[in-house]
Amino acid sequence: MADALTGLRERLSAVMDLNYAASLLSWDQRTYMPPGGTTARAHQLATLRRLSHEHFTDVEVGRLLDALAPIADDHANDSDEAALIRRTRRDYEQARKLPLEFVTEWARARALSNQAWEEARRRSDFALFQPYLEQQFDFAKRQAEYLGYDEHPYDALLDQYEPGMKTAEVRTIFDELKAGTIPLLKAILSSGGVVDDGVLHQTFDEAKQEQFGVEVTQAFGYDWQRGRQDRTVHPFCTNFGRDDVRITTRFYPDFLSAALFGTMHEAGHAMYEQGVDPAFSRTLLSRGASLGVHESQSRLWENLVGRSRPFWQANFTRLQELFPQQLGSVDIEDFYRAINKVQPSLIRVEADELTYNLHIMLRFELEVDVIEGTVEVADLPEEWHSRMEAMLGVTPTSDAQGVLQDTHWSSGGIGYFPTYTLGNVLSVQLWERAIATHPTIPDEIARNEYGKLLGWLREHVHRYGRKYEPRELIRRATGAPLNPQPYMSYLHRKFGEIYGVSV
Ligand code: ZN
Repeated sequence: MADALTGLRERLSAVMDLNYAASLLSWDQRTYMPPGGTTARAHQLATLRRLSHEHFTDVEVGRLLDALAPIADDHANDSDEAALIRRTRRDYEQARKLPLEFVTEWARARALSNQAWEEARRRSDFALFQPYLEQQFDFAKRQAEYLGYDEHPYDALLDQYEPGMKTAEVRTIFDELKAGTIPLLKAILSSGGVVDDGVLHQTFDEAKQEQFGVEVTQAFGYDWQRGRQDRTVHPFCTNFGRDDVRITTRFYPDFLSAALFGTMHEAGHAMYEQGVDPAFSRTLLSRGASLGVHESQSRLWENLVGRSRPFWQANFTRLQELFPQQLGSVDIEDFYRAINKVQPSLIRVEADELTYNLHIMLRFELEVDVIEGTVEVADLPEEWHSRMEAMLGVTPTSDAQGVLQDTHWSSGGIGYFPTYTLGNVLSVQLWERAIATHPTIPDEIARNEYGKLLGWLREHVHRYGRKYEPRELIRRATGAPLNPQPYMSYLHRKFGEIYGVSV
């Protein structure tokens, strides 16, 4: 059996090397590649992904997994080896359920759909994108049928991003959040409490914005010896193993928040990957447990740390030093309120902490309705408008500000959106558990020290990589299942205090 394990590890190492090489080519495409390189790059990526897929779904992997089944089937076995075999078995079976023609056809369709979406968004014309989106939903339905599900076809899609999560559970969590958020939002909007965020909309030198971001993320614990930052239109985090984890940021010359909180967010993702147990390197365990767990890390650093009073007690003077003209005479409390302003808006990525989840709920509900067949793709712009109006009280005046704003659907990412809100929910459960263990964490943050917080996250989340399924990881780390109540209470406490309302 030791031979089979060695054989499996060798096989996985090669698969991971191919995947990381493909990721590096993608990173290059989004950062430095000249536009002329697009076609050649598409071929290179397709070749690497095909090789990786073939290498992974080879019958030899099945033979090795069969030989190792006694280890995986022993449920009392909590070893890294048993987890590796179980995860590999799951991924292997899923990968083999999708016919190669389907995978190839879908990959090609995604590239075309993405191109069509960019054009449609630029011209704010949904009709240009509609046939491609219909096709993407069709692929999603077929994918669900190939993969299989017990209750709802959407379960199979969700499972790709949040293993084990069910549509019905998401609905329950979202209903609870919506019931808590909408009255609070209404109370805030009718309170007459005005928060002025004009201080954030001034001219901010890009190099100084970058400097501050580097200092902050270094203090958090992002290891720059194993990371770097570049510029992209859409910020992201990617890695080629735990020792090369890169982030990207976008800088607006006239708005401070985008790069400031975007950099903290991506560093949160990056620290998770940098913290995975080195023993998992070049295996399927060497990355975050799910997109939801990943998002809990980015949101924790961005919101619970970065948008908190203790953080700014430690850092506001430094920011004023960098921007004396813009912020020199600004009161720290006014700055805290500005970065936490609640304002219903049309664009998800610009939404505040409170209204953000409503944007996610809208997308989740529409996706499920289209999969169920109760809403037609052709009706999405109208549905989008009326549901935005009902939930947030704002109505898009164009498709670009509405149904065309996100890239996810054009790249086949149906089932992805809920993980953003699940991550928000989890971030507060983890935060509260860390503070229960180390009550001095907020005082340390006020001194610009993050070792205890990062140490707790490393010990209870990061190091495990993909060893446990999200449900198991969450139970181990927080002692409870995923629960929206702590998050809801946090939002009520924080924004109730800022706006002087209680619901
Ligand atoms: Zn994120």
